[in-house]
Amino acid sequence: RADIALIGLAVMGQNLILNMNDHGFVVCAFNRTVSKVDDFLANEAKGTKVVGAQSLKEMVSKLKKPRRIILLVKAGQAVDDFIEKLVPLLDTGDIIIDGGNSEYRDTTRRCRDLKAKGILFVGSGVSGGEDGARYGPSLMPGGNKEAWPHIKTIFQGIAAKVGTGEPCCDWLHGQGKNVKIKSGVAHLGERKGTEWVVVVSKVLSRDCLSIPPSILAFAFEEWNKTELDSFLIEITANILKFQDNDGKYLLPKIKDSAGQKGTGKWTAISALEYGVPVTLIGEAVFARCLSSLKDERIQASKKLMGPQKTQFEGDKKSFLEDIRKALYASKIISYAQGFMLLRQAATEFGWTLNYGGIALMWRGGCIIRSVFLGKIKDAFDRNPELQNLLLDNFFKSAVENCQASWRRVVSTGVQAGIPMPCFTTALSFYDGYRHEMLPANLIQAQRDYFGAHTYELLANPGQFIHTNWTGHG
Ligand code: NAP
Repeated sequence: RADIALIGLAVMGQNLILNMNDHGFVVCAFNRTVSKVDDFLANEAKGTKVVGAQSLKEMVSKLKKPRRIILLVKAGQAVDDFIEKLVPLLDTGDIIIDGGNSEYRDTTRRCRDLKAKGILFVGSGVSGGEDGARYGPSLMPGGNKEAWPHIKTIFQGIAAKVGTGEPCCDWLHGQGKNVKIKSGVAHLGERKGTEWVVVVSKVLSRDCLSIPPSILAFAFEEWNKTELDSFLIEITANILKFQDNDGKYLLPKIKDSAGQKGTGKWTAISALEYGVPVTLIGEAVFARCLSSLKDERIQASKKLMGPQKTQFEGDKKSFLEDIRKALYASKIISYAQGFMLLRQAATEFGWTLNYGGIALMWRGGCIIRSVFLGKIKDAFDRNPELQNLLLDNFFKSAVENCQASWRRVVSTGVQAGIPMPCFTTALSFYDGYRHEMLPANLIQAQRDYFGAHTYELLANPGQFIHTNWTGHG
């Protein structure tokens, strides 16, 4: 009998099955288009212990109890369709795990509905793409905690490992909080923010300093030996120097129009809902939207003038170091904001989140894996109640150490007309967060002036008053 079943034989599902097989678990494979089961068994899974099923009924009959079934299918209706077909075939205490990028509200609903039917539902973030699924993803399960003892061995067995073998997988929030971990979403959102600061660093270096791709790739390789050591920096170096079959660099040939599947958007929507200033991720999503207006941009590029092009006159090497520091500072802001969102979600849903543990879970396997996440873990170990990463002494010094460079990069880039959505928004956030007074008092006064919305005096918190600003009766 199989230890677990997996439905969905696309790239993620196939790789996760092979990963589970490598770790000694017998997996039963199933897919909507059933012919793919045979193809998989005859090719990728040839010589493994993986078994297949031609129907859901057959699949269920091949499983040990309590039955464990992972869905790795297209997020949305496909998940609900499979759940509907599975429920009549399952017994109380059986477990359905959705490993796709489902919207967390769908997960909340499924968790609640299935609990009423005696089925334990888990929504798990699976991060790391194809390679992660195959050799060790970061796994972020949440949902009905009664399922955890039954899936822990498999999940922690196949997850990426860091340090002395700690798995990048743990249960993410308390019993009964049947809500898919927002952290999965926040993590994906953080990726968008981090991606953009990396992209902007590249554009700045290229356009401002006119650095050729091979040298830029070398710079990224060097950056990867510093506190910026991360998967995204590493792959960017490789992408920059990658040459096509014709010997020319591939990157300039790729259409500069980025789509979005929704995870960054969800993070930004959540941020708006909870009133958390996750500005860098919001900006990263909008930057993708702007990039997708390719035809309009082609037209606009012929009409709208920027500043006159001037030769960069400073020291290129030291400005490159400025860019590296601006990137580091912006990345810290991106994470500080991501953790602010997690904290707010924890308050909303009554979760008890182990923030250090979450950072550790992302240290391996996933796309945002980086040495830096260990520093976040250290910060929450020092102070589990830490209100904001920026208030930890390590991160405070790191940002302060970068800020002169960061400001030089932003002002130089703005002068040169280079779009830097994430660098600028990250710096504005930092400057806003560190100001005791912000001009929001004028907004309050304006709102009271035109709409009698009332305002609070600093000296009298909690008391809302209205002023007759015009003196008219
Ligand atoms: P995918 O392209 O998102 O989905 C393909 C799978 O879904 C196939 O098994 C397909 O079956 C099934 N499917 C599609 N529509 C269906 C429907 N209406 N009813 C039933 N089954 C349906 O596959 P993927 O890239 O491997 O991703 C799987 C899940 O993991 C997704 O939720 C994705 O967002 C998430 N994810 C992906 C990555 C990644 O790097 N690709 C990383 C993390 C998470 P057929 O073969 O019959 O068409």
